[in-house]
Formats: sequence, structure tokens, C-alpha cells
Amino acid sequence: MRVLHRVVSGLQPFRRRVLGYHARMAATYELPDLSYDYSALEPHYEARTLELHHDKHHATYVEGANTAAEKLAAAREDESFDHIVELEQALAFNVSGHVLHSLFWLNLSPDGGDKPSGTLATAIDQQFGSFDSVRTQLSTTITTLQGSGWAALVWDPIARCLQVTQIRDHQHNQIQGAVPLLVIDGWEHAFYLQYGPSKADYVDAIWNVVNWADVEARYSRASDLVLP
Ligand code: FE
Repeated sequence: MRVLHRVVSGLQPFRRRVLGYHARMAATYELPDLSYDYSALEPHYEARTLELHHDKHHATYVEGANTAAEKLAAAREDESFDHIVELEQALAFNVSGHVLHSLFWLNLSPDGGDKPSGTLATAIDQQFGSFDSVRTQLSTTITTLQGSGWAALVWDPIARCLQVTQIRDHQHNQIQGAVPLLVIDGWEHAFYLQYGPSKADYVDAIWNVVNWADVEARYSRASDLVLP
């Protein structure tokens, strides 16, 4: 039986290489289209920056996510886990980058700005004191980033409260199980072309295009989540 298993395992790389066949399909990730034109967020977020950010940077994370998923599927087929550490790191980095950018585009709108309303506004007032307070915390979370990362307003389904987190890269410093509602990209590629080193000016501008209707809808859905 052990010999047979070794023979079958030995055929797996051949089967994949020659026939392009995977016994189990790897997960696939796709770059979502923007729901607005590249110039729609101007002057707060210029077209060239948005185009490069979406078409190049976000696309690179999608490609990296698919590559990591395919290599992990191949490793499972081959029962060869020598590179599991770097593959799982690559998967976490790239999938998280894909998720955060997908959210970021939806969190922005040409019709955005102003401030939240309804139950989200009430929750913010109760937990942060005021909208200005949470806005200042999120802005400071971006401007104090050492390296690359994000600011996120999240729903913690265990304590059932809102929190602000500073995400390093795309996947570090997270509250496990927390649901992102609003994310702001603090990577240099997000702003340098338009704002140069003035990250604070970028953050000030981005508040003018935050799609609070989207954030409120996410809050409504997330607050129904039961975990564990
Ligand atoms: Fe980005």
C-alpha cells in the first residue's frame, strides 16, 4: 500500500505538468472593476493615481494571491510542504491586499463626504464621543504609520463594539475576527504621485469622498454577525 502511494504521488507533478490538471481547484481571485471613472474622485483623488493604484498595484496583489493559491494546491497534490511558510505568508499578504483594496474602492464615492448617519452615527458617538474624535483617530493612525499599512474602522463581534486599528502591510496587527467597515490606504503608492510626502493632506482630502452609505450598510450587516 505504501509503495502504491509513493507511485501515485510520484505521478502527481507529471499529471499537473503535462495535463495541466489539478485534482482540487485552487481558489481564484479577480480584480473588481471600479464603479466610477478614474477622474470621478477629483480633485481629492486624481485620475492618474487612481488608475495606477487600481490597474497596477491592486492587480499585482490579485496575481500574487492566485500564484500563492496555485502553488499551495500543487503542494497539497504533491504532498510536498517544504515551502509552506513562505507560501502561506504570500497568500496572507496578497489576499489581504486584495480584500483591503476591494473594500477601499467601495468605501469611496464621488457622492461621498460629510459624516455618517443613523445607527452607525449613534454607535460612533457612544463609543468614541463624537465623529470628529473617530475621524482624528483614523487620520492619526495613517499619519503615524511606520512603513506601509492601513487605518481601519472595524466591528469587533466578540465585544460587539467599534474599534480603530492600524494594519501593518496588509495583514499584520489585526484584531482576529473583526470585520472591516472603512479602510484607508496608507501605502505611499496610494498618495505620493499626487501629494508627495504630505500624507496628512492626502488623508484630509480622502474624507471628502468617503462613501458613508457603504460604511453604514457594512455596519448593519456586520452587527448581525455572531462569533464564535
Ligand atoms: Fe494600495
